[in-house]
Amino acid sequence: MSNSKNVYLFGNGKAEGTAGMKNLLGGKGANLAEMNLIGVPVPPGFTITTEMCIEYNKLGKEKTKEMLQAEVEAAIAAVEDIMNKKFGDSENPLLVSVRSGARASMPGMMDTVLNLGMNDVTVEALAKKSGNDRFAWDSYRRFVQMYGDVVLGMKPTNKEDHDPFEEIIDHLKEEKGYKEDLQMTTDDLKELVKRFKAVVKERLDKEFPTCPWEQLYGAVFAVFESWMNDRAIYYRKLNNIPEEWGTAVNVQAMVFGNMGDNSATGVAFTRDAATGEDLFNGEYLINAQGEDVVAGIRTPQQITIIGSKRWAELQNKTEEDRKNNFPSLEESMPEAYAQLNEIQQKLEDHYKDMQDIEFTIEDGKLWMLQTRNGKRTGAAMVKIAMDMLDEGRIDEKQALGRMEAGKLDELLHPVFQKEAMKNAHVLAKGLPASPGASTGQIVFFADTAEEWANEGKKVILVRVETSPEDLRGMNVAKGILTARGGMTSHAAVVARGMGKCCVSGAGTVLIDYKAKTMIANGKTFNEGDWISLNGSTGEVYEGKIDTQEAELSGDFAKLMAICDKHTRMHVRTNADTPKDARVARNFGAQGIGLCRTEHMFFEGDRIKAMREMILAEDLEGRKKALEKILPYQREDFEGIFEAMNGFPVTVRLLDPPLHEFVPHEEANQAEMAAEMGISAAVVKNRVDSLHEFNPMLGHRGCRLGITYPEITEMQTRAIIEAALNLKAKGVDAKPEIMIPLIGTLAEFENQESIIRATAEKVFAERNDKIEYMVGTMIEIPRAALTADKIAGKAEFFSFGTNDLTQMTFGYSRDDAGKFLPEYLDRNILKNDPFQILDQEGVGQLVEMGTAKGRSTRPNLKVGICGEHGGEPNSVMFCNKVGINYVSCSPFRVPIARVAAAQAAVQ
Ligand code: PEP
Ligand code: MG
Repeated sequence: MSNSKNVYLFGNGKAEGTAGMKNLLGGKGANLAEMNLIGVPVPPGFTITTEMCIEYNKLGKEKTKEMLQAEVEAAIAAVEDIMNKKFGDSENPLLVSVRSGARASMPGMMDTVLNLGMNDVTVEALAKKSGNDRFAWDSYRRFVQMYGDVVLGMKPTNKEDHDPFEEIIDHLKEEKGYKEDLQMTTDDLKELVKRFKAVVKERLDKEFPTCPWEQLYGAVFAVFESWMNDRAIYYRKLNNIPEEWGTAVNVQAMVFGNMGDNSATGVAFTRDAATGEDLFNGEYLINAQGEDVVAGIRTPQQITIIGSKRWAELQNKTEEDRKNNFPSLEESMPEAYAQLNEIQQKLEDHYKDMQDIEFTIEDGKLWMLQTRNGKRTGAAMVKIAMDMLDEGRIDEKQALGRMEAGKLDELLHPVFQKEAMKNAHVLAKGLPASPGASTGQIVFFADTAEEWANEGKKVILVRVETSPEDLRGMNVAKGILTARGGMTSHAAVVARGMGKCCVSGAGTVLIDYKAKTMIANGKTFNEGDWISLNGSTGEVYEGKIDTQEAELSGDFAKLMAICDKHTRMHVRTNADTPKDARVARNFGAQGIGLCRTEHMFFEGDRIKAMREMILAEDLEGRKKALEKILPYQREDFEGIFEAMNGFPVTVRLLDPPLHEFVPHEEANQAEMAAEMGISAAVVKNRVDSLHEFNPMLGHRGCRLGITYPEITEMQTRAIIEAALNLKAKGVDAKPEIMIPLIGTLAEFENQESIIRATAEKVFAERNDKIEYMVGTMIEIPRAALTADKIAGKAEFFSFGTNDLTQMTFGYSRDDAGKFLPEYLDRNILKNDPFQILDQEGVGQLVEMGTAKGRSTRPNLKVGICGEHGGEPNSVMFCNKVGINYVSCSPFRVPIARVAAAQAAVQ
């Protein structure tokens, strides 16, 4: 229910609100109050609370007006007193602005009305008072237009329609032969007002409201309603802003930046929002109103001399030209500038963060209209926080709190060059599966990718979806684009592991492997054509867009050290190769949480031996093939253990269904048959027999090791022998052998006994020993439900939240792309559960599994190795439920470190 106080006043160095009241007053309202309290000049006004917005949506206009009327009238009277003006007065009228202001900033999403209070009487008074007819009538016509669009709903709702007011302006300019709005005379502006009102009458069958009070309530309610417009709803969804928050409304005395050449308006940042450099900067326009600066009709000028000189250099302008035609505010209005500079410093000192400010200079007098923490790039985020820490403005915990962990991605991957983006044209949009930017020539097959890459070409591998067979192609490609598959599809998981840009599930892209074409946005692209991908946004661009490499700064290292100081959880990595393991170590990974051994089977001759094993008709044949694989596996493990010297490495035994490894095309089957000295028909038969209706629920995970114990034996032998070999070289290997897809204790016991027996055998052969652990993935709901039993034997748990999500929701990881986007659009799901852990459902299994496991084995080490291990919200959740470590792809390690540290200091 609404607070009994609904309206909060500010002005003249006093305010009923404070910066701490953002929930009730919205960000803008709270900061307007605060600025008053710290002596910054702000036009007086009042804030109607966010709670009223919620009430309004329940009660409607009449009831809300009744609730507000007395307070609003008193507030207007207070503003009248401060300004020494009167609302609707024929001599000295008070005009106000009406703006939205939610708790979180939602730039441009909701409505604003300026110059409210104008009518045929007050326009004359304003003309007389300002001595500027044109200004008064221009303000009036802007008001009628804005009010008509926003409050009276005349803004076109579809893109074919024209704004009726803009049409009238165009007609009048055409009649008069004008090119620019500025050519319009006062009489023209009067004519516009007349025509504007006529169109309102014609469309709505009612007169344009002349009573300022009617105008005011109309505008306030329009702002409340704009909380529910499509733009705002969409923005809220993108940014996870709850609908229940509502928006506040700020009503403020108007100050005019368009009163003549001694007036101006502008926006500024207390530091550079792109680089983080401690340099006051911004733009302004003389004789202009707020929207003119952003509208792009006139070229805004720089605020400081330094900024202006840098700007001129980029624009190839001479110093002469700059000084005469584009002077900085520092030069054109030195007094107002000096005051602005002082205030910006005061605001930054007060808020202890970079501020984004709006100001207006009315006839030489400076007014601040807004201050808020400025949005910034990932690089600026880190630099500003580390600088402010050095400056002693904030402490380490506050610096950590300033990090949006996901934004660190921007620092770690290549980005498009800004200049090159100017003419970029989006062809399609898919999922932002793996961040970074890439550009290259289209290839459709992994072997072409390898050939072309060997010739020094940059390629983008374009596939309907990828399978492990495409791994080599993915490895050499600059980027990967798939038409199908979600955020945990093969392509997405592997690309993230490689730190390679990937856009997956771009459903509108049609791929024809036979014709070697890709159709996107109605245009056909052939093999060899250039495209570019932004894996951070999911956008696919036509043509070549140059990229630049990311550079890590000293500030980044400093931030990471702070994380380590405060964190409770460890961060490990998911890595399958020594190279990935080294990358992850450099990013600070403290071990490997998941080494997917299957990825090792695709390189070079290994795939042949693997296929031989699968296609073999009997145990004998399988054992022979496995003997060929053993040395490869051992070598791989040695490389990985060495890269992780001293840190634990969790090696998962073979997991995917075997059909993923066998050749499906006739030519490849024939080649394999020749290799093995058997007939192509036998190969085909065997491949066909591996077909499963639901491979993800089929013969995979520990079910493979149970039915083919020789695979578990070979893999265990490779792990233990590798560790012993390294021990001899003085490298400390800490293997943790992990059994996948356990659902019952008996499954675990079966595999554990094979592992332990094999290890003992190797120890006896070598007459040497190492420490190792045997544990399990918890990725089947039954395993979480019976975790107490499983922990009786398993020495560690690792939650495989990809499969656990798949099986808890019953959504296939590979097919969810068909319906998930619509689920998200229609708010049936708030997030993609494969990206952000579903704490309510899947999270319950994680929490319960951990608690049950520890009820049997109090020191049970618990980790998470699904894709959620690198997603900040999910990492926070893991910290809350007492998990020991999260494991994620190498390039997400820094993000997880920040999120883990944030979770610890919260
Ligand atoms: C999981 O299921 O969460 C997991 C890490 O294993 P994979 O993605 O390889 O199935
Ligand atoms: Mg799994």
